[in-house]
Order: sequence, then structure tokens, then C-alpha cells
Amino acid sequence: TVRTRIAPSPTGDPHVGTAYIALFNQCFARQHGGEFILRIEDTDQTRSTGESEQMILDSLRWLGIEWSEGPDVGGPHGPYRQSERGDIYAAHCQQLIDAGHAFKCFRTSEELDELRDSRKAEGLHMALKPSDLALPAEEVARREAAGAPFVIRMNVPESGTCVVKDMLRGEIEVDWAQVDAQILLKSDGMPTYHLANVVDDHLMEITHVMRGEEWINSAPKHQLLYEYFGWQMPELCHMPLLRNPDKTKLSKRKNPTSILYYRRMGYLPAAVINYLGRLGWSMPDEREKFTLSEMQEHFDIQRVSLGGPVFDVEKLSWLNGLYIRDLSEDELLSELRQWAFNESYVKQILPEVKPRIETLSEAIPLAGHFFSGLPAITPDDFAKAKLQGEDLVRQMQFLTWKLEAVSTWDKEHLLAEVKLLSEHFELKMKDFLAPVFVAVTGSATSTSVMDAMVILGSDMTRARLRHAVA
Ligand code: ATP
Ligand code: GLU
Repeated sequence: TVRTRIAPSPTGDPHVGTAYIALFNQCFARQHGGEFILRIEDTDQTRSTGESEQMILDSLRWLGIEWSEGPDVGGPHGPYRQSERGDIYAAHCQQLIDAGHAFKCFRTSEELDELRDSRKAEGLHMALKPSDLALPAEEVARREAAGAPFVIRMNVPESGTCVVKDMLRGEIEVDWAQVDAQILLKSDGMPTYHLANVVDDHLMEITHVMRGEEWINSAPKHQLLYEYFGWQMPELCHMPLLRNPDKTKLSKRKNPTSILYYRRMGYLPAAVINYLGRLGWSMPDEREKFTLSEMQEHFDIQRVSLGGPVFDVEKLSWLNGLYIRDLSEDELLSELRQWAFNESYVKQILPEVKPRIETLSEAIPLAGHFFSGLPAITPDDFAKAKLQGEDLVRQMQFLTWKLEAVSTWDKEHLLAEVKLLSEHFELKMKDFLAPVFVAVTGSATSTSVMDAMVILGSDMTRARLRHAVA
């Protein structure tokens, strides 16, 4: 039976690209009466967090994505978190070493830099081959005896052509000369993506690997690993990446990419899923509006077109409007409740409101920005914050870029960034924050801007900062 999977890395906010790939995997599996499963690829222990994993699961489920096996629902091929499968990877890596397909590499990072530099100087390809990395046997013995750190790398052919088959692209040819002797096991004993991904796809009996086209370059290494293990390789299908309106790869620098943002903005899950289904794919009758089950029913992977689909927020809004007008008033009420008219969201806002009002009727205007999208800001509003023109734009841009890299979105981390930037611009924190306040809350008098940023989340905060100076 057909088995597909989504394999997100829990290293940040849940990405719309993850939902997009999940949607196509789910449709393909359902169409073939197969299974769609979810695996967490958290081998990057420094960047992976439990909160990110939870947000990814919650967001996908909110959109109506359903997996039959996964870390939260269990299943016969578990554990479904790579961090819990260390022994499996170590054993498989040993199998490759024993068969001569992989080797210990004691090269230091300085040596690797030197090797790369000298290859570059000679105008050679940049890939590092087993022969480039080899050390004299005595040297290996010496380093090993001294307990020097090492990694395990895979053997790769020095030359020739590798042909990988892709369901949408046909045969893709890659020169082996460009392919590195890829690290399989890092010096801390953790597997790399490549080893863990291949071992898990095999053990989890995945028949079709459908993922973003950013992984095409990994396909030759994966194919070789399947050969080394003597396993049948799943079919590969590399989906086009979503694009910004300027056709560059959709990125959080230019557009909100977090599903949490679209949720906070008040897009309905059915509309978001419908919109994602329209990106690079169409129903046989080309209709714009369809449900997830209609998409599953009419799914055909060959209808995916490879031109980079543009994620256009205005189109999404238009579609969302159609969905809203189709709701009965009871349904609309229920959507509003799920969105923000609920205890858990309102409770977050109450501490902001309570100290600042004398009558309850002041609460709504004061807290309006917690329920709105991108506020319209007049130059007057900024004038009150005593900052205009290029300086304003520069400060907002710097802040937006800095915030992009904040991994723990809480008051402490945000304050640290704001403090550094105000020092950089030689401003008092209060003066640096004044226009930020206007951009985030939409007016010159409102609730605490730092608290608002925490509650609104990273993508909404950054979208408002961008919007304010657009
Ligand atoms: P950004 O450029 O916004 O920082 P990113 O590439 O760093 O994005 P990751 O956190 O690395 O994003 O990716 C999260 C998931 O989203 C990955 O599974 C990745 O394949 C997917 N993804 C990222 N960008 C796109 C895109 N443009 N189209 C489709 N999927 C994407
Ligand atoms: N962990 C990878 C990601 O985050 C999975 C890629 C794949 O599907 O092979 O995109």
C-alpha cells in the first residue's frame, strides 16, 4: 500500500510550506487508499524545541491535516521522533562501515577549510571525496589513540553520472564529481538528516517521498544509501517551492510564513487549505473553491505544475471572503469564538486592559489592536512619535531583521534585542520604542508594546513593522 509522510523539523514557527507539502502527501495517500504519517526530524538538537513540535502538530491539525501514525498518536513503526531513534541509526551506520561503504574521518575543520581553499585555488570542483579526505594509516591510528573526534562519512563515486527519477521531472542527471563524501554520523554520534531520513523512510515503509524541491540535491546521496543498504528506494516527487510575489522563495523576511500568523489574522482553515491546494495545482474543472475532501477525491499528482507558485495574500483574502459569506450566522459566531472571542485569548489581554480603563466600554477600543490585522497608520501618528523619513525606515527594518532571528519569543528576549538596537542607534530605549509602539499597536496611546508583541507573535509583529513603513 501507498505510504507517504511529512517530516518537519521542529526548529521554529509552523511554516505554510510544511502545510503545503503535508496537504499534497495526504491527498496522494488518500487517493490511493494508503496511509499518511508524520515523523519529527529533530536531530538538530540545538535548534529543535518541544514547543515548536507542538505548534507544528496543532497548526497542521487546525488546517484539517490528519496523520494515522506520529509522535502524538503512536503507531507500529515508532518512535516517530528521530531523537529517540539514536540506536537505530548507529547500528545502520555500523552496517555501512562493515561493508566498506562508510568510513571514519578524523579531519579537523581547519584541515577541511584548507582542503577547500586549495581545491578552489586549483579551480577544481568543491566536493570533497574520500580520496581527498584520506590520511596516512599511522596518522589515523595516532588520532584514534589520542581520542580525537571523528565523523562517519559515506563513500561516493569520484566521477560518472547519477540518474535519479522524479515523478514530476522525469530523469535528473547529476555529476558524481559534485557530490561530497557526506557526513552520516556527526562527532557527537547524532545522525545527519541524510542517514536518518533514509533509514526512517525505509523502516517506516514509505513508498513515496514527496517533499520540497530544495531537497533535489540530496537525492543522489539518498539513492546511493538505498543501494548500499540493498533497499528499494521510494518514488521521489519534488514539489515546487512557494514563492514571494517577486518570485523569490517564500521567506519570512518578505512575507509572513507562519501558520500562526494566518490564524491570528482570521483566515479560516478551510480557506487556507483550499488556497494551498490551488498553488501549483488545479481541479480538473479548474474551479477555485473546493474542500479538502473534494481535492482528495479528484487528486492527480500529474496536475502539479512546476512553475513556482506565488503565495499571494490578497488572493487568499478574496477566497477567505467567499468562505465567510457561505457561513450561517451561527457558524460565523463559532468561527469567531475559535479565532479570538474565547477565554484563553481574552485572558491574555486582560492584564493589559485592566490598569488602563475606568469603564468597561473603554476596553474594546483600547484592545482593538489585539483583534485587528495590519493597522492603517498616518504620518501624523508617527509625527507624534517624533521620528520620520529615512531614520524611521532604517530603524524599523533593523528591528524587523533582528526579530526574525529571535528563537524564544518572550518578553525577556525581545527586550534584549530592543536594548541592543537602541544602543546601536544611540537612543534612549523609550525613544527607540516610540515609533515601534505606533507601528505595532496602531496608535500613540495604547497598551504596552512589548506585551503586545509577545501576544501577537513574531510574524504578526514583523508584518506590522513592515507594513508601517511600506
Ligand atoms: P525562511 O526562508 O522563511 O526562513 P526556511 O527555509 O528557513 O524559511 P525552514 O524553517 O527551514 O524555513 O523550513 C520549514 C519547512 O518549510 C521545511 O520543511 C521547508 O521545506 C518548508 N519550506 C520553507 N520554505 C518553503 C517554500 N518556499 N515552499 C515550500 N516549503 C517551504
Ligand atoms: N526535515 C526535512 C524538512 O524539514 C524533511 C525533508 C524531507 O521530506 O525529506 O523539510
